[in-house]
Amino acid sequence: MNARDPSLFVRLRRRLQRWGAHPEARKYPAADTAITAIPLPPTLTLPLAQHIGAPAQPVVRAGDRVLRGQLIAQGAGKVSAPLHAPTSGTVVGIVDVPVPHPSKLPAPALIIACDGLDEACPAEGADPFTLSPGEIAQRVADAGIVGLGGATFPSAVKLSLGRDQPIPTLILNGGECEPYLSCDDRLMQERAGQVVDGARIILRAIGGERALIGVESNKPAAIAALREAAGGHADVRVVPVPSRYPMGSEKQLIAWLTGREVPSEGRSADIGVMVHNVATAAAIHRAIRHGEPLTSRIVTVAGGTVRTPRNLEVRIGTPISALVAFCGGLTATPTRLVMGGPMMGVAVDSLEIPVIKASGGVLALGPDEVAAPDASAACIRCGACVGACPIGLLPLEIAARIRGDDLPGSAALGLKDCIGCGTCAFVCPSRIPLVQYFNHAKGELAARERDRLRQESIRELVQARAARMEREAREKAEAAARRKAEREKAKAAAARKPEEVSA
Ligand code: SF4
Ligand code: SF4
Repeated sequence: MNARDPSLFVRLRRRLQRWGAHPEARKYPAADTAITAIPLPPTLTLPLAQHIGAPAQPVVRAGDRVLRGQLIAQGAGKVSAPLHAPTSGTVVGIVDVPVPHPSKLPAPALIIACDGLDEACPAEGADPFTLSPGEIAQRVADAGIVGLGGATFPSAVKLSLGRDQPIPTLILNGGECEPYLSCDDRLMQERAGQVVDGARIILRAIGGERALIGVESNKPAAIAALREAAGGHADVRVVPVPSRYPMGSEKQLIAWLTGREVPSEGRSADIGVMVHNVATAAAIHRAIRHGEPLTSRIVTVAGGTVRTPRNLEVRIGTPISALVAFCGGLTATPTRLVMGGPMMGVAVDSLEIPVIKASGGVLALGPDEVAAPDASAACIRCGACVGACPIGLLPLEIAARIRGDDLPGSAALGLKDCIGCGTCAFVCPSRIPLVQYFNHAKGELAARERDRLRQESIRELVQARAARMEREAREKAEAAARRKAEREKAKAAAARKPEEVSA
């Protein structure tokens, strides 16, 4: 789509106005409470895989004393992120613990016994506008910053895309369209200066020309705070976007703000756009200006069974039981515990699961907030899911292919473009768990693709071995033929010699 063609832009916006859903926001009373830092727990549990990419590798051992901000695990490979001690204390060891992941499998984590002193490593900040783009990206990588909107992609890897070619447009995502969550709203209201400065630092890192901060129109206080903070900067603009789920998804925000669509299976950088979450921008500000690695985040604690829902500043690794206790505890046993939002979050089984870099919310939901597991009925082909899908997919047809075990058919209908937002399932009157089908099928397709690549690589190895053996056999035969020819030549020469002598 050409953004310079106003009629196309208008048509795209009209189309965008039709999709999506309006789940009940349920953001209050948490959204009304100022961010509060909670006390340190006795121990912190830090999973080594808190980001997309290879897990971090520990650089400390049991018994080591660590200080707040000290490197405790380094990134491994191109796509990875390091971990830093969120407070001072002693490393207890590395153990497998339950982590917030859909697989529910345990994963290795570093355990730190906090000493309560909260002693910090010396930190060194810098003026970002004296740093080169490469130096900014390196400092962001060293600080362990990942996408704090839930994607957890290492931010420095994204920034380095700007090294190959400048990316003119930066979008900061202040959508926060998931029900219950208000951590980004509070951050934008209370720390707008950090967000705007982070945007300007990112612009420098990617060679960008303008930053658009997209904020849902139902957050007037955040919009006002950001506009005031951006006042003196012509390159930063705060743009209200419609309040609708999933406006916070990257592709929708880009389309709404720029009139451009990210190609299927493509990246936003392909159309000259980069998107970061507002909390990521604030973390980049702190990493560059103050030399602070990422060791804490803001978490919304809410849900019908939480006594006093609120927004908390929490050290990474804190068990969610400590957050719930700080909110006055639970009024009843939750029907479902969720890490993240109710639409795209991960259901967890234990209050001892730790907060990780991706955790924007902890929800303890009651029975009236959760659909009954056996509530689904047959598809009535009403088409509501088709109208609601923000990507323009045909969820009912994709689900039918999956149910018929026709995974290639579901892929041909665009399953890989599905962002897993859950809007189709939300609007479905038959309450069909469409996203569960899609997630299962995506996992199966990925496994089949891995299997295909493995088979292909085995076939290539077998073919290479057969070709090598054929070549060796041919070379052997040629060498034998050469030797035979030389022997016969020598024999013939020997037979000629007596005649030559007699002559
Ligand atoms: S098909 Fe995927 S992208 Fe479309 S509404 Fe459903 S979950 Fe969202
Ligand atoms: S919304 Fe549900 S019932 Fe309606 S067509 Fe889609 S899958 Fe079928």
